[in-house]
Amino acid sequence: PNWSLQEMLAHTVSEHPDAEAMTFYGRKTTYRELEDAVRAFASALQQAGIQKGDRVAVMLPNSPHFVISYYGILTAGGIVTQVNPMLVERELQYILTDSGAKAIVALDTVYPRVRAVEAETDLEKVIVASLQSGGQSVSPDETFEAFLASGKNHEFHPVSINPAEDVAILQYTGGTTGRSKGAMLTHRNLLANVVQSFEFFKSDFHPGQDRCLTVIPLFHVFGMTACMNLTLYAGSSLVLLPRFDIKEVLETIKREKPTSFPGVPTMYVALTNYPGVEEYGVDSIRTCNSGSAPMPVELMREFERRTGAKVLEGYGLSEASPTTHCNPPFAERKPGSVGIGFPSTEYKIVDTETGERELPIGELGELIIHGPQVMKGYWNMPEETKKALRNGWLYTGDLARMDEQGYVYIMDRKKDLIIASGYNVYPREIEEVIYEHPAVKEAAVIGVADPYRGETVKAFIVLKDGANATEQDIADYCKANMAPYKVPKLIEFRSELPKTNVGKVLRRTLREEASR
Ligand code: ATP
Repeated sequence: PNWSLQEMLAHTVSEHPDAEAMTFYGRKTTYRELEDAVRAFASALQQAGIQKGDRVAVMLPNSPHFVISYYGILTAGGIVTQVNPMLVERELQYILTDSGAKAIVALDTVYPRVRAVEAETDLEKVIVASLQSGGQSVSPDETFEAFLASGKNHEFHPVSINPAEDVAILQYTGGTTGRSKGAMLTHRNLLANVVQSFEFFKSDFHPGQDRCLTVIPLFHVFGMTACMNLTLYAGSSLVLLPRFDIKEVLETIKREKPTSFPGVPTMYVALTNYPGVEEYGVDSIRTCNSGSAPMPVELMREFERRTGAKVLEGYGLSEASPTTHCNPPFAERKPGSVGIGFPSTEYKIVDTETGERELPIGELGELIIHGPQVMKGYWNMPEETKKALRNGWLYTGDLARMDEQGYVYIMDRKKDLIIASGYNVYPREIEEVIYEHPAVKEAAVIGVADPYRGETVKAFIVLKDGANATEQDIADYCKANMAPYKVPKLIEFRSELPKTNVGKVLRRTLREEASR
């Protein structure tokens, strides 16, 4: 349908006004209540001078406040600028000035950071939300509750949206490979990805009845689409958790019995290694989707063995709203692959030098994508946009191969490729082998500068609690399972690995540390 996202929500509200839209620590909100709050928030923004196309930042963890702010901003015609509450002042200032945000909805605990950078930005309004019920006043600026209440007294003036052209959100990329870029996603991009997901998972999905365990952050594109927007489209309900606390997640699964769980591999690592995980009824979840980073095959097996749940791994990126591929619930699942293309999604593997020659089945090249979910471009970065979007195709920067049935295998990012003594080494391939070692909990592989080989392979390893292994053990295991040029020459044990907010291992940080 040619809807804006707020029209999508309005449609669900008209169909299931009294159904539960979300639950947060036992507090439930129906669709009708959600719509009322969204409308009040939008009116208040209009009163505050927000006009169509203005950027409004949201710096909140998963909570009803997030959902209301997001849809309230869209309803007022604004562009949601997603901000991770963990950002430090420098990073926050970059996003606020780059986007030119005029207002921000921020969590009370991050408020001092907003204050510290405010003078350098175009912010005219700061709204402070507290997750404690009642909302505490922490500043002279308005609280979320006061702002919402003020909107109830004002008339709302509808804003007309052109879904194909109008930008709904700026999604800043995680910056695992460089400077963070704001992907401009239109209403059509985002709705397309919701409808594509819905069609793809139809056989595994019961609209109106499903409950989505929403613990991956909504400020990240995966949670935004796969949890929030898909659930609100289907008339199902969100079980919101503001952080990944393993005990709380398991208690929530036991109590709320969610039916779907989009997660990231590090969450599956934590669940798999939790003593007594078998007792929490994780198998009541019909589909555990994994995305954002590679799911080691051994981890998938162990998770499924211990919990009885089923994992469907998919793939996506901020620039594609995000999902383009997934293992299907209706056909063969191939562990180690990210599955087949979503409906209306075309994809090819092309040569990495020119990006123009399509490669035959089985050959390794760059994955490129064409579909309605592909972004309009990067905010204020025409040169970067030209590199990423060529003739309507999105160049993902990921190295991949495809099999005869169209299943895609992501080998690695172009930028993470290691060239050791002239050989191409794919970090992920080595990580997969190391993960098979019974003492290993997590592994990350990078290239470090080497005067003779150009680069040499280094592995960082986290061992399972109580497990023992020496560098020699790991090296021997690698030697028995891979060609000599791939075997890590350097091995370092760590108690944890540096990660992004969605639990993606930051190989860039490891490279920086290794080069010091
Ligand atoms: P930046 O693009 O700034 O470096 P980022 O990587 O965090 O930041 P995202 O858009 O969040 O940006 O992530 C998209 C990337 O995540 C993909 O290009 C791909 O490299 C990786 N990815 C996502 N899903 C998978 C998967 N199932 N297997 C392997 N890699 C994946």
